[in-house]
Amino acid sequence: MSEKLIIDTTAGIQQIEKIDPLRVFGEDYHMLGQKMPEYTGGFPAPALVTLAKRLKMTMKLYAGLGLSANQCGVAERIFVIGTDEFQLVCINPKVIDEGPYVKDKEGCLSFPGLFLNVDRPSWIEVEFTDENGNINQVKLHGLSARCFLHELDHLNGIRYTNLVKPLALKMARQKANKIVKKIVRNNKKQKDNAIYS
Ligand SMILES: [Zn+2]
Repeated sequence: MSEKLIIDTTAGIQQIEKIDPLRVFGEDYHMLGQKMPEYTGGFPAPALVTLAKRLKMTMKLYAGLGLSANQCGVAERIFVIGTDEFQLVCINPKVIDEGPYVKDKEGCLSFPGLFLNVDRPSWIEVEFTDENGNINQVKLHGLSARCFLHELDHLNGIRYTNLVKPLALKMARQKANKIVKKIVRNNKKQKDNAIYS
């Protein structure tokens, strides 16, 4: 949790704006199946800047490589991708060009422990607006391209589980259940140790 000091010059008083992480909803959440509408509001947009900060903070908290607004219950066409060092805030993202498809593993914060081999372009050229209203055109390769496309799918109401064959999904789910059970067991052990040691 962090706090940002906002100086309200019109009122001549100081306000504290709290910037907290957002809740990430799980796979059955209704907004994960909905297409998010284009952002048509203007810039500057303080609410959008705050939302971008909260998305980045939440992505970092859960060690994700991308997070879309609708995963967090916010109906805006915006996502963030990146790592600790480098992040992109993408509003109204579009793919302009794409390279040949390659299969690679991907996960999702809404599907803990579930890793699927998904076919996606190896590179993409994209256009998006950032939280300050600047229009960016960039070429993304490999993992960055994969993250961008996974998050763009979220904004279009597409879950990555729809992009693989049923048998592959079934096997990956079995693995995911084992991973989640192991995490729960380890957490319980840690708790017990904390109580009795
Ligand atoms: Zn996802």
